[in-house]
Amino acid sequence: MAEDAELVEKTATARKRASWDEYFMSIALQAATRSTCDRKHVGAVIVRDKAILSTGYNGSIRGLPHCDDVGHMMDNGHCIATVHAEANAIIQAAKNGTAINGADIYVTASPCWNCFKLIVNSGIRRIIFFEFYRDERILSVAKQAGVELVQIHMDGGE
Ligand SMILES: [Zn+2]
Ligand SMILES: [Zn+2]
Repeated sequence: MAEDAELVEKTATARKRASWDEYFMSIALQAATRSTCDRKHVGAVIVRDKAILSTGYNGSIRGLPHCDDVGHMMDNGHCIATVHAEANAIIQAAKNGTAINGADIYVTASPCWNCFKLIVNSGIRRIIFFEFYRDERILSVAKQAGVELVQIHMDGGE
C-alpha cells in the first residue's frame, strides 16, 4: 500500500493539470477534427459555468454531401458550402432548446464576420480563440458590442 501511495504522488506531480481554458479549447480542437471541408478545420464549444452547452464544427448543410467527398462550392475565393463551427454550435443549442445567453464560446479560429454577428446577437459574452483568422473588424466591434475577445496559446491545432 505504501509503495502504491508513493507512485500515485509521483505521477500527480509529473503531470500538469489543464486549466479550464485549455480544457475547453482542447475539446474545440477535437471538434475541429470532425470538419468535412479541408479548406479550414474549425471547432467550437459553448460553455457556461464550466459546463459544455453545445459543440460544432464546419460542415455541409444537413443531408448534403461533404466537401471532402464532392469538392467545394467556391465563391470569391472562399468555400461557402459549409455552415461554420460557431453557427453550428449556436444552431445545435437552438435545436435542443439550450439557452446560451451569457455563455462563453471557445473557437479554434477567430470568427468570420458572419459568425461574429451571430455570436454577439446570441448573447454570448466572451469569445476565446486559438488562432487569429483573417477578419480584423471583429477586434474593434467586439469592444463596441461589449463582447470580450481573448486569444489563448497552447499546443495543438492545425
Ligand atoms: Zn468546402
Ligand atoms: Zn464563420
